[in-house]
Amino acid sequence: LLIGCPAATEWHENRVAVTPEVVGRLGRAGLDVVVEAGAGQEAGFPDETYVASGARIAERPEVFAQADILAVIHRPDFRRLRPGQIVIGLLRPDDAPEELADVTALSFEGLPRTLSRAQSMDVLTSQANVAGYKAAVLAADTFGGFFPMMMTAAGTVRPAKVLVLGGGVAGLQAMGTARRLGALVTGYDVREAAQTDIASTGAAVLDLGVSASGEGGYARALTAEEEAVQQRAMVDAIRGFDVVITTAQVPGHRPPELVSAQALAGMAAGSVVVDLGAGPLGGNVAGSVPDGRTVTENGVVVLGAGDLPAQVARAASSAWARNVTALLEYLIHDGSVVLDPDDEITAGLLVHPKETVS
Ligand code: NAD
Repeated sequence: LLIGCPAATEWHENRVAVTPEVVGRLGRAGLDVVVEAGAGQEAGFPDETYVASGARIAERPEVFAQADILAVIHRPDFRRLRPGQIVIGLLRPDDAPEELADVTALSFEGLPRTLSRAQSMDVLTSQANVAGYKAAVLAADTFGGFFPMMMTAAGTVRPAKVLVLGGGVAGLQAMGTARRLGALVTGYDVREAAQTDIASTGAAVLDLGVSASGEGGYARALTAEEEAVQQRAMVDAIRGFDVVITTAQVPGHRPPELVSAQALAGMAAGSVVVDLGAGPLGGNVAGSVPDGRTVTENGVVVLGAGDLPAQVARAASSAWARNVTALLEYLIHDGSVVLDPDDEITAGLLVHPKETVS
């Protein structure tokens, strides 16, 4: 069996789905590895590091034509795919699924994340963890003051006050990282279970009087009334924070707007807001621009940062490659990929479930 790893071609995408570190493990699972020339370059894995690990380097058409399995970050150009090929990545299964009808598409969006045996395969978690870390570091770098308290001969500087909205994987990592940098951290989420998680990072817990636990461990979308209550309470709560990091998501919905223009208007000049939800559908912060930096009239810096894992490409790729390898080790039996539609993990991943043994 041959696994192919083409280069990601999306704007700003520096990650690669297979790294040299996993080539040996893939080999032991029965897979030869072919990587597109230059695919790992931006993530810090030049071609020679793949060759030294036992992989082959090839040009793009050859990778697509020869591979039995393609490991990708995002959905590749479907016209290049060969019928019967297995494609593994974040494939946006709800967006024109017919494009993927001729291939066996395994999309990480469908992984049953709460199953403990699926956790080693969970790219959503591994990438959210990278995003949360980078959000805190980016905020510290952009903020004009210190995160920790500083006692110097010229006097004492108070620590930065950081508010993290959303206490899922990215939010908890942002809280932990900001605390390790010495900031005074407060966390907020609408899910009840998240309150204990936030407290376990050592952050203070903010309550705005809205509770919204939903299905499968996720939050549910707020009603218009709840959203209005939350936004109004946020206007008062957000004052006095130097840094706000927003990470709130609701699966299948546009990111909730937690920080309104009015809330931004109440913040002090020089405050920094990092919006991890910023994307084409909007974000958690009014007026945030995907991949853009804006400054409000009152001097608040708003960073739209929906693509942070791609900016920490080495760590993000290493984690991704380990997730893909864990999945393949799970699926390969006696040299074949076995896709049992009765298996919960396989059924979740398959974009077009059908009985397939390749
Ligand atoms: P996510 O990226 O979908 O959302 C991030 C956070 O935003 C969530 O905590 C959510 O509650 C919060 N949120 C949504 N709407 C909000 C609003 N209006 N106001 C404030 N916060 C809001 O979530 P995620 O990080 O992928 O995971 C969510 C949960 O699932 C977490 O508890 C996570 O630990 C859990 N999870 C569990 C497993 C597992 O059991 N193995 C794996 C992955 C995730």
